Amino acid sequence: MGPTAHNPLILLVSADAVDRDDLVGQLRAHCGEYRVMGAASLNEATDVLAHVAASGAGIALVISAHQLPDGAATELFGQLKSAAPGARRILLTTLDQADAALQAITQAQVDRYLVLPAYPLADRLLPIAEDLLEDWASQYRAIPVGVTVLGHRFAANSHVIKDYLTRSLIQFTWFDLSDDPEAQAMARELNLPTPAPTTVLFDDGRALFDPSITELAVALGLTEEATLDRYDLLVVGGGPAGLSAAVNAAGEGLTVCVIEDDCPGGQATSVVTRLEDQSGFPTGLTGADFAHRALAQARRLGVQWCSAKVADGLLPLRGSHRVTLTGGEVLVGKTVLIATGMSWRTLDAPGVAELTNAGVYYGATAAEAEQTDGEDVVVLGSGDAAAKAALKLAEHARSVVLSVPQSSLRQAPMSAELADLISAHGRISVHCGTEVGEVRGYGRLEKVVLIERSGGAAQVFPASSLFVLLGMVPSSDWVRDVVGLDELGFVLTGVEVSRRPELLPQAWAMDRPPLQMETSVPGVFAAGDVRAGSIKRIGAAITQGGVCVTAIGLYLQEHSLD
Ligand SMILES: Cc1cc2nc3c(=O)[nH]c(=O)nc-3n(C[C@H](O)[C@H](O)[C@H](O)COP(=O)(O)OP(=O)(O)OC[C@H]3O[C@@H](n4cnc5c(N)ncnc54)[C@H](O)[C@@H]3O)c2cc1C
Repeated sequence: MGPTAHNPLILLVSADAVDRDDLVGQLRAHCGEYRVMGAASLNEATDVLAHVAASGAGIALVISAHQLPDGAATELFGQLKSAAPGARRILLTTLDQADAALQAITQAQVDRYLVLPAYPLADRLLPIAEDLLEDWASQYRAIPVGVTVLGHRFAANSHVIKDYLTRSLIQFTWFDLSDDPEAQAMARELNLPTPAPTTVLFDDGRALFDPSITELAVALGLTEEATLDRYDLLVVGGGPAGLSAAVNAAGEGLTVCVIEDDCPGGQATSVVTRLEDQSGFPTGLTGADFAHRALAQARRLGVQWCSAKVADGLLPLRGSHRVTLTGGEVLVGKTVLIATGMSWRTLDAPGVAELTNAGVYYGATAAEAEQTDGEDVVVLGSGDAAAKAALKLAEHARSVVLSVPQSSLRQAPMSAELADLISAHGRISVHCGTEVGEVRGYGRLEKVVLIERSGGAAQVFPASSLFVLLGMVPSSDWVRDVVGLDELGFVLTGVEVSRRPELLPQAWAMDRPPLQMETSVPGVFAAGDVRAGSIKRIGAAITQGGVCVTAIGLYLQEHSLD
């Protein structure tokens, strides 16, 4: 079945009937899930856009010639800003109109422009259009049904579900049972018990009560089942390193499956607000944008994406390594890539386990900061991440207590610039030489007890939230007894495997030395933050994900007869 009036729109506006018809035909052939229409003038385009907006269908992309018989494309793009702010815009211009094009770009009215004549026009235009459409789809992802979440702000599962949906770029409506009469009426209508479970309602009538992330991912079609008995490459971890390796390997024709315990992007989605140093993205992009673009690319290349599944063990066997998942599933790969990155160091203090996600949080996202309006909060940590979190929270919270283990801010590992901002901030009080001794609360966090590291004196602070940012540790426990790790738990690879035989659970078993990024188990590789000696940056993780595919290819060649 072809696209219908409900599919998002691509509109091509040009007075040149030959070019217009040709491009409309090519766009229809390449962008099957979009409805492609043509318009010959500004007025005609305005009518089409008004009609589509009224029907509720999305407007994904408008491509317009600069000069139209009854006006300029900039007028059309100006109208679009209010009618469909997310719609992507491409301007087709000529050299003598280049000044107008540049002005439009400066005023952020167009995303890209193409100078005509460009031969063949479709070959030049289609990659730009596809790129912008992927970008649009990652933000305005059409999921088959609307999603409503009904719960309590401080219920742990409500937090986990909202956080997962947000990072998965799924739009949802949130109803807080704590203080919203409409939410309470909905709970009565649904006959929910007291206390009510976190309830996820879908517009098609389905409802999930206190679902796990796996159940939610299945219901939303965000994960798939592995279908092959054996893959050329099993990637564990769908962060920047894992996604980059999956794309590169699938591009080389390998069969690839990615196992990810959460949503795509790893730390990039949860902590990084905007990446300014990714080449090719002049205005930067968010971690979530990056992740969803990379995932769309991977899936287009045939990568299987098994998310919301946790790898808990690795059993190396000659020619086919087995990765076990919690729940008992086993996946088999000729090669395995460990790309499980790093996660927050956990806080070990009385009360923390019971109140995690019910007021005690690891890391601090912008969404969490916005929820603390007028409240008292505590931040624990002394690095740049803790300092930035404290400053962000201070934009919303009534008071922010920053607990720093070092005896002064100058000794803390945060930048001097951040330390100055913190010291000068009227709503942040810094408590150096302290640590969290205990957290208290019934069902949700109410108080944080800070104790002095030197004398043990305790001070109690009322707090709705405690944000713990005590640094990151490698997520390598699941392979601890299988591959060689350094003293801090990072995975040894390449020459480091040969250099540190005393750290290997099993001696290196091949006549040749380990390949680049190969671990102490032949055929098992590691890339990204989890790898010993790696640079802990997104760009570095992406590069390593790409580079290790060369070594994986060499290994597969070596074992092609297995
Ligand atoms: C606060 C903070 C700010 C940062 N800011 C920047 C910045 O501005 N610019 C920059 O370049 N870098 C920044 N970084 C660093 C950057 O985010 C990391 O270097 C990068 O994300 C590493 O990518 P990765 O793929 O190796 O690992 P990760 O991003 O950690 O991804 C690993 C993935 O594996 C999954 N996983 C873990 N264990 C399992 C398992 N057992 N089974 C299945 N899946 C599993 C995780 O859920 C995760 O999705 C920042 C990091 C932090 C903490």
